[in-house]
Amino acid sequence: MASRKTQKFQRCLVIGGCGFLGRHLCEGLLDKGYDVSIFDIRKTFENDKVKFCVGSLCNKQDLLPAMEGVDCVFHCATASPLSNNKELFYKVNYEGTKTVIAACKEAGVKKLVVTSSASVVYEGKDIQNGTEDLPYAGKPMDYYTETKILQEKEVLKSNSEDFFTVAIRPHGIFGPGDPHLVPTTVELAKAGKTKFIIGDGKNLVDFTFVKNVVQGHILAAEHLGPDSSINGKAYFLTNDEPLFFWTFMTKIIVGLGYDAPKYNIPYGVLYVLALIIQIFCFLLKPLKDIQPTLTPMKVALAGTHHFYCCERAKAELGYKPAVSVEDGIYITLEHFSYLKSGAKTKK
Ligand code: NAD
Repeated sequence: MASRKTQKFQRCLVIGGCGFLGRHLCEGLLDKGYDVSIFDIRKTFENDKVKFCVGSLCNKQDLLPAMEGVDCVFHCATASPLSNNKELFYKVNYEGTKTVIAACKEAGVKKLVVTSSASVVYEGKDIQNGTEDLPYAGKPMDYYTETKILQEKEVLKSNSEDFFTVAIRPHGIFGPGDPHLVPTTVELAKAGKTKFIIGDGKNLVDFTFVKNVVQGHILAAEHLGPDSSINGKAYFLTNDEPLFFWTFMTKIIVGLGYDAPKYNIPYGVLYVLALIIQIFCFLLKPLKDIQPTLTPMKVALAGTHHFYCCERAKAELGYKPAVSVEDGIYITLEHFSYLKSGAKTKK
């Protein structure tokens, strides 16, 4: 078993700190007494305890002043997974991450924690209790995943005797402030598109409460350092309580006052349909750029098993999910009550 000596740091920079995970991470770091700066392309909130730096991570000259005196960088920025913009994903997630690494080295930053994703090993086929021994997806299903793989490889490769790096691979992050999962589901529910269950509804999946993901990131940063066995490694991070994808979705949908999904559609039929739509949109692209709502990746995520083992994070980082999925759903529904069916005001 790896040694779990913690190697403290004081000043940290959260790249992407104005995003969903980034903002929770900043709160978690402040709660533990760290000095926190945020680097993001936009500023979405005010906090007197945080120093904000606005710029693009693709530009080293923007990053360097933000990294002055910083011991540890958390990189949790990404181009929006909803965009499906190949050039943007390559620019931000891949080239941008190389720029972040170069800037860290030039600024003398010692630790880099990157938020990767469990999807780096996912190819649309069942994964049950997957461990870090799984190879990267040989055929990633979308540009987001493709560039998350490239990003993680660059970060782990850059680990050295005086620059310590680690990749955290969360899966299905949910919680207050999430801009994707709950708001998109509500949009679909309003359009009457959440009546269907893809497949038999018995596929097990991880959903990870955002505060647990924060805990994993901070522990990783605390354990990075000279001679640490975690340096240069990747860690799956989950709630460690996989549940049926459709149980989770139903709790969210019904919790916000919409009807539960009840009609089953065969997985294969919908997958082929999504493939046809994807090919059609690709052929049409020179004339019109259409972003389909139904993609093979979305169908696969909704209809296959994909849950991961987080024993390595538990043993080597001391990770222990503090908030259960059930409690996480309750907190999330409270936060999103303004999206309830019939609600008129935004929080
Ligand atoms: P998010 O979209 O809420 O936040 C991303 C942030 O990155 C935004 O604030 C955005 O402004 C910033 N950003 C984008 N381009 C930038 C640029 N060029 N320069 C500086 N900042 C830029 O995303 P999130 O859901 O908080 O995801 C955080 C991380 O977690 C990402 O790396 C994502 O791949 C990973 N992840 C997310 C999930 C999930 O379910 N949300 C699951 C697994 C992994």
